[in-house]
Amino acid sequence: MSYVITIDGPAGAGKSSVAKRVAKSLGIKYLDTGAIYRAIALLLAKSEIKPESEDFLREALSEIKIELRENSVLVNGFDVSGEIRTPEVDELASVYSALPVVREALLGLQQDQEKYGSIVAEGRDVGSVVFPDAKVKFFLTASPEARAKRRYLERVNKGKEANYDEILESIKHRDKNDSQRELAPLSVPEGAIYLDTSDITEDEAVTFIIHHVNEAINNHNEAK
Ligand code: C5P
Repeated sequence: MSYVITIDGPAGAGKSSVAKRVAKSLGIKYLDTGAIYRAIALLLAKSEIKPESEDFLREALSEIKIELRENSVLVNGFDVSGEIRTPEVDELASVYSALPVVREALLGLQQDQEKYGSIVAEGRDVGSVVFPDAKVKFFLTASPEARAKRRYLERVNKGKEANYDEILESIKHRDKNDSQRELAPLSVPEGAIYLDTSDITEDEAVTFIIHHVNEAINNHNEAK
């Protein structure tokens, strides 16, 4: 039986690290939908295609080829995995991802990943729009301050420059953009299990999710 697990939530809630570990532990694939939006936004910005140029956007999107590898994202054959994790791309992704033309173009690409087996998909609308029939849905969140602190430490530990106040400001700004956009806004999907990670460890979040997934799988098997 192949199945989809979705994990939605705002930036810095710990989705990526948790989703990767859950996928590894369950022996299934990990789908980072934010990486797709980031890669597309970077390519469109580099091509100087403005968010308001709908026709140019449509044309450019029809020519973009994205390949998701285990630990990298290739856009038109180029590995952009490193380039997409910058504060500039945080903002670009938030702007371009609010456009209906962009979301439409990427919907099928995300849904297609289900054909290749079970997945843990992570994003903003994976439980509500992309995989509404997912087996188990989660919504991970944390206070803006806890999320900013995590992002700050992540950057510092990678030896990168970081400013806590700027990160907090950017997180609040992105929350606002992602929650208030008309199409597929960040929201708790119907039936999703809500988890606030502000005061729990990553290990606890992973254990919590795996417990619920196993329970759902066992219930499914017993019902057969
Ligand atoms: O998850 P990550 O921070 O990498 O996502 C970057 C941006 O891409 C988000 O701030 C959001 O604007 C957009 N995104 C989205 N829908 C998704 C995943 C990401 O709109 N499913």
